[in-house]
Amino acid sequence: MTREAGMALGRLSERAFAVVAGAWPVEPPAPDDVRLLLDSADEATADALKAAASRARDSGLGPRLVARALIEISSYCGNSCRYCGLNACNRLARRYSLSEDEIVESASRAFRAGLRTIVLQSGEDGRDTAELSAIIGAVKRAGFRPDAVDGAGYPAVTLSLGERPEADYAAWKEAGADRYLMRMETGDRELYAALHDGRGLDSRLACHAALRRLGYQLGSGIMVGLPGQSVSGIALDLASMAGGRYAMLGIGPFIPHPDTPLGDETPGDMGLALRATALARICSPWSWIPATTAMASQERDYRVDALLYGANVVMPNFSPAYARGAYAIYPGKRCAAESDDEQRPERATDSLRRLADAAGLAVDPGRADDAWL
Ligand code: SF4
Repeated sequence: MTREAGMALGRLSERAFAVVAGAWPVEPPAPDDVRLLLDSADEATADALKAAASRARDSGLGPRLVARALIEISSYCGNSCRYCGLNACNRLARRYSLSEDEIVESASRAFRAGLRTIVLQSGEDGRDTAELSAIIGAVKRAGFRPDAVDGAGYPAVTLSLGERPEADYAAWKEAGADRYLMRMETGDRELYAALHDGRGLDSRLACHAALRRLGYQLGSGIMVGLPGQSVSGIALDLASMAGGRYAMLGIGPFIPHPDTPLGDETPGDMGLALRATALARICSPWSWIPATTAMASQERDYRVDALLYGANVVMPNFSPAYARGAYAIYPGKRCAAESDDEQRPERATDSLRRLADAAGLAVDPGRADDAWL
């Protein structure tokens, strides 16, 4: 590890400690410090980042691992993000939309496995607002447990449905939704516009503002290794997200999908994605950070690595088997090959415990809400 990298890490660790200790105002992390560490691929830096990220996570949220059940409710999408296999122009994509019964049945399997958060994710499919409100209510009722360990009888429902009018977000909040995930993917305006036909970053940030106004626990995040993305850009994104007090932050490597305009591009570097995860953690000790499915879908499963680099969430997939294969935002998605057997409560619990043990964490069976609430 170079002396400069050591000094940068010291400054960021000091900031993380001040954040956790509530010592305000805290200076935002300097993007130059973050960039220097992102660029340091040596083993000594990796070890120091892992140690600092684990300390930041354990001080901010405790040495806990939580699981959120992912249900991919529709693969239809009217949008055309150039990196995504579900983009509207991909005629080879398999499209489906789960009924309310299928969604509630999937959620019920997750509840039987002890999970207390359901993440409903889809492309921008234009599903009727009231229909989705009814689904949210049905999922909440299906998971009601008067003896819940965290004292919250109803489970948490997280939505990840893309950009919609504020009135829709308000209706879903009213119906019981708690959280919303909407990654910005990149904060570089030019790159964002080049990747999202007809959409600009401001439209996404306006949705974030609306979701905050309505009281959602908000999640953002970035993709690492996008064509045209610089390390300085990633550093700026991590530093700006640290100032945003996001309840959840997702960092995933870019995986080119062959049926998209970016199909021939080089995949994102896993080492860089892991360092970005550690730096997201050090800059944002209070955020829930998943070991993303994209990290599990490499030449090997990198989720334990991500946990060692400061992540503290896994998102087992509870979609029906036919949907897991069809929801191909990128190729080789790890859970696509799994059978329904993987979702049996004892298998899901074992798998969670194995991941937690490997990372030295304890499984937290609660909802794990925003630490700032
Ligand atoms: S990333 Fe989301 S909004 Fe964009 S094309 Fe894919 S499913 Fe649609």
